[in-house]
Amino acid sequence: MLIIKSTIDLKNILKAKKKQRKKLGLVPTMGSLHDGHLSLIKKAQENCDEVWVSIFINPTQFNDPKDFESYPKDFKSDINKIQFISKNINLFIPKSVNEIYHNDTSTDKFELGFINKVLEGKYRPGHFEGVATIVNKLFKIFDPNIVFFGEKDFQQTMIIGKLIYNFFPNIHLVICPTLRNKDGLALSSRNNLISQKSYGNCGIIFECLLYARENYLVTKYSDLIKIIKRKIELLDSFNLEYFEIRDEKTLKSFKQYEKGVCYRAFICVKVEGIRLIDNLLLS
Ligand code: AMP
Repeated sequence: MLIIKSTIDLKNILKAKKKQRKKLGLVPTMGSLHDGHLSLIKKAQENCDEVWVSIFINPTQFNDPKDFESYPKDFKSDINKIQFISKNINLFIPKSVNEIYHNDTSTDKFELGFINKVLEGKYRPGHFEGVATIVNKLFKIFDPNIVFFGEKDFQQTMIIGKLIYNFFPNIHLVICPTLRNKDGLALSSRNNLISQKSYGNCGIIFECLLYARENYLVTKYSDLIKIIKRKIELLDSFNLEYFEIRDEKTLKSFKQYEKGVCYRAFICVKVEGIRLIDNLLLS
């Protein structure tokens, strides 16, 4: 296992190994690894002959400085978890923000269009510009053949898809299913920030998505939103930021069911002020 902290060292290593490999797989993460991340890494292992995981808490994708400050970090445990899977996985953990941003943490200009104007794009202005900026930088550094991202951040996979379509046509994007705990809560590094009492109630988020899947064709959309808001906000310290059903190809809002369109429900709940997001394909 290589653990590389400098971009220059990384580029030299990648260049030297280029001839020996056919498929380089990249799994970008912000660390505090859980089984969801590990499932992406395992998928990369199955499909690539060289796997790199990056761990970098990207400042430009945090629209809230407090969220950036409190984002969980545990590099030692991350390294152990990866080593436990295999000693053949390589890690890039930039030693500082400057290693990536070279004293300029402005975001690059990307034409992200409508998919950046709704859901997370609306509630976290600038977030996806930050995501596109870091992913663009990582893709340029690694020149990967296959990249692995999670369905948990479905809108993010659409942004990455657009970036790939426009600038990296040779990269293949693999979207991996969401891993959940026994209550259905999507695993997330942010779950570590929630008190035990609230954590025990977080299963309600997935329950609401399942409820939407059962009922969206028979309940008026505005009533469905009200019902879900009530279910969530009955719980102490739980607030619904949004629940929305959208066309999963375009992210256009659901109005009435149209045959052939795949609808997906998106939810964001603030639990003790921590934003938890999830989504589910309805049709
Ligand atoms: P993050 O460290 O939160 O930036 O996530 C790194 C990658 O792991 C992203 O592609 C996420 O979508 C993916 N991911 C996060 N949580 C899960 C999960 N519960 N199941 C599967 N993939 C996940």
